[in-house]
Amino acid sequence: MTLSVISKKISTCKECLLHKTRTNTVSGEGSEKAEVIFVGEGPGQSEDLAGRPFCGAAGKYLDELLQKTGFKRKEVFIGNIVKCRPPGNRDPLPVEIDACTPYLDQQIEVINPKLIVTLGRFSMNHFLPKCGISRDHGKVFKKGNRLYFPIFHPAAALYRGQLKEMIEADFAKIPKILKDFDKIMENKKEAEDKNEDIEDKNKKSSDDQSAMMRDLEDKPIQSQMNLGL
Ligand code: SF4
Repeated sequence: MTLSVISKKISTCKECLLHKTRTNTVSGEGSEKAEVIFVGEGPGQSEDLAGRPFCGAAGKYLDELLQKTGFKRKEVFIGNIVKCRPPGNRDPLPVEIDACTPYLDQQIEVINPKLIVTLGRFSMNHFLPKCGISRDHGKVFKKGNRLYFPIFHPAAALYRGQLKEMIEADFAKIPKILKDFDKIMENKKEAEDKNEDIEDKNKKSSDDQSAMMRDLEDKPIQSQMNLGL
């Protein structure tokens, strides 16, 4: 499988009703070898017309943020949760997200990034269902062999100027997260080992154990402070 094969499949997709109102599908673009991918919510009007992700006002701002942090757009991958524009830029419906996210999963499998930066609430909750954007933006989460880093959607900063400072501060952490990737994974492993110890102690009560493991999900890694993030 390659990104272009996935894009071809997306271009003819009719898995949800969004195919009826789209001008173009927007499969995403960037490097197949990207260490970091950025995942937004869905195409807006400019993206729908151009068939490219983040090419309107929010896209220009994203380009600015990428440039400031030393990334070239072609070195990363930029995509969305849904590949066709929800009419009037409404929120994507759960049924549309369910229909479309297998494509994103395939793209992630091909790229195999170290870090997934989620842009906005919908993207964050696809990967980290228990997180809240106001509480958890700018924190690092680990699942499997990847790190996740939720930040506000760039469009939010255009509408709510007070978020600009927050987005820029969060964005500025990305190079350091990538640089410290191995260290962060190692620290997380230690934390998981400790959790396993706790788990052993709680084996007597399977109900209690299940409750505890649920609580451990979607918690930011505790090593952030040590890493100065
Ligand atoms: S949004 Fe996704 S699932 Fe729905 S038609 Fe477009 S590509 Fe297919």
